[in-house]
Amino acid sequence: MKKSEMTKAKPSAAEGLKELFVDELKDIVYAERALLKALPKMAKNASEPKLVEAIEEHIKVTEGQVSRLERIFEILGESSRGVKCEAMEGLIKEGESILEETEAGPVRDAGIISACQKVEHYEIASYGTLVAFARTLGEDEIASLLAETLAEEKDADKQLTESAYNSINFDAAEED
Ligand code: FE
Ligand code: FE
Ligand code: FE
Ligand code: ZN
Repeated sequence: MKKSEMTKAKPSAAEGLKELFVDELKDIVYAERALLKALPKMAKNASEPKLVEAIEEHIKVTEGQVSRLERIFEILGESSRGVKCEAMEGLIKEGESILEETEAGPVRDAGIISACQKVEHYEIASYGTLVAFARTLGEDEIASLLAETLAEEKDADKQLTESAYNSINFDAAEED
């Protein structure tokens, strides 16, 4: 890349991996808190009891993930104030438009699963990177806390896939 094409860094730009790590933690804590506000609406719009249950369960898990992040900020001696995550804002907005674009029932349930899985994949990518950064930085305690969350996100994604394949998508297809 030619020098002239390189984006000029802001004065507050991260210089080292540690700073980038903290910036990304601030992004994900914002994202988790935004998700906590958005998930109850998803649960209220779901019809299949198993899906409602899975979302409600993930709300509890997400609360634990926020506390885990707060613990990490404590270890680092940093404030746990989040910085707006544009990606999560976008994913949540897309999830809300899926609600408007589907009739309540199996079709909306399939849409909710799709929206939730996009969120889970964003989180899996984020925590995967954060675990790697923490290990590189020699922050082993933090790395294992983040790895716990990563495992929970993978589990949530798997549960959503299973509920989709077990009945919801088939019921949705029958609505045609
Ligand atoms: Fe999460
Ligand atoms: Fe983000
Ligand atoms: Fe999209
Ligand atoms: Zn999640």
